[in-house]
Amino acid sequence: MDDRTPTAPAAAKPEIDTAQAPLAPRADGRRNLVGLARPEIAAALAELGEKPFRAGQLWRWIYVRGATEFGGMSDISKGLRARLEERFYVYRPAISRHQASIDGTQKWLLRMEDGAEIECVHIPEKERGTLCVSSQVGCTLTCRFCHTGTQRLVRNLEAHEIVAQLLSARDAFGEWPPPERGRKLTNVVMMGMGEPLFNYENVARALSIAMDQDGFALSRRRITLSTSGVVPMIRRCGEELGVSLAISLHAVTDELRSRIVPINKKWPIAELLDACRSYPGASNARRITFEYVMLKGVNDSLADARGLVQLLAGIHAKVNLIPFNPWPGSEFECSSWDQIERFSDVLAEAGFTTPVRRPRGRDILAACGQLKSDTERQRRAAPAPG
Ligand code: SAH
Ligand code: SF4
Repeated sequence: MDDRTPTAPAAAKPEIDTAQAPLAPRADGRRNLVGLARPEIAAALAELGEKPFRAGQLWRWIYVRGATEFGGMSDISKGLRARLEERFYVYRPAISRHQASIDGTQKWLLRMEDGAEIECVHIPEKERGTLCVSSQVGCTLTCRFCHTGTQRLVRNLEAHEIVAQLLSARDAFGEWPPPERGRKLTNVVMMGMGEPLFNYENVARALSIAMDQDGFALSRRRITLSTSGVVPMIRRCGEELGVSLAISLHAVTDELRSRIVPINKKWPIAELLDACRSYPGASNARRITFEYVMLKGVNDSLADARGLVQLLAGIHAKVNLIPFNPWPGSEFECSSWDQIERFSDVLAEAGFTTPVRRPRGRDILAACGQLKSDTERQRRAAPAPG
C-alpha cells in the first residue's frame, strides 16, 4: 500500500493538533450555523418542528444579507426568532488587527474562538477584488522561502472558520447584499496560510457553501486553490469542486525543488505534472497556474526558464512569476527586475502567458504569514502587565 497519505506532513513539524479544534459548542450551548450545509440547517430546524423552507430563509439571511442576529429577520415570526436565538448563533471571528496599505491592499488578522489567529488579505484590482484566504493556522510544510512554514502552532481550520473569512470581508465592505456592479469581493484564492489539500474536507465544505448560487454565490471560476503539490488530492479537488488550480512549482529539477519545497520528496515533479495533465476541467480557457517565486541565484537562471518551458509542454498552463517577499531571517533574496523580465521573456517566446505578480501591500507585510508573526513579535516586545 502507498503510505503517502495526503494528511501526513512531509517535513518534521508537529502533526496537526486536532485537540485544539474548536468543535465544542459555545459555553452557553448555542450552536453555530455558519459552516453547516443547507440540509444540515434544515435538519437542525426540523428538530424544532420547523418546515424545510425555513432553512432557505435562514440561508439567505446569513449568506445573501450577512445577518448575524436573528432579531432582524423580518420574514420569520417573532416567536421563532426568539427560539432560534436561544439555540443558535451566526459565527464571526474577532478582528485582532486591521491594516490598509497605501496601494489599497487590506489585511485582517482574525482571532478564532480558541484564540488561534490567521490572516486574510484583500487585493483590489481594476476589474476585480481578490480575497486571499487561509486554510490552516500555520502550515505543517516547511518551504524554505515561506514564513508561514516557520510558525510553530499548526492546526486545520474548521469549515466555518474558512467561510467566516469571506463573511468578514463582505462585512468590511458592506456588501450585503452584494451590489450588481463594482463589488470589492469578486474572487477568492486559497493562498493564505496553510496547505489547503491537507485540510481538504473543511476546504471543500467551505467552498461548497461559498459556491451555493442561492447564497454567497461565488462562481467556481472565480475560485483558485493553490497547492504545494499534494498529488493524491488534486484529482478529487477538480472532480468535486471544479475550482481553478494553482501549483507552487518554484523549481524545475527535483534536486532543487526537494530542497526548497520539501513535499517534493514525497511527490516529485513528474508525478505532480501528471496530476496536472489529467486535472478535470483544465483547458485553454481554464489554464492551470504555475507559481514560481523568483529567488536570486537559486532558481532564476535562463536555463531554469528553458527547463520550465520544457516541463510545461502539453499542459494548459500559465506561469505566475512571484517576486520573493523577504522576511526577517529569510535566507533568500528576490531576483532583480531585469532578471525577472529576462526569465519572463523566455516563457513568453515559448507562448506562455506570464503575468509577474506585482508586489502588493509590502508596507503592511502582506506576504504569507507575515502579519501574524509581526503581531506576535510586538506582543512579545510589550512589557508584561502588572
Ligand atoms: N500552501 C499553498 C498555498 C499557500 S502559499 C501553496 O504552497 O501553494 C501561496 C503562495 O505564496 C505559494 O505559491 C507560495 O509558494 C507563495 N509564497 C510563500 N512565501 C512567499 C514569499 N516569501 N514570497 C513570495 N511568495 C511566497
Ligand atoms: Fe505551507 Fe504553502 Fe508556505 Fe509551503 S508555501 S510552507 S505549503 S503555506
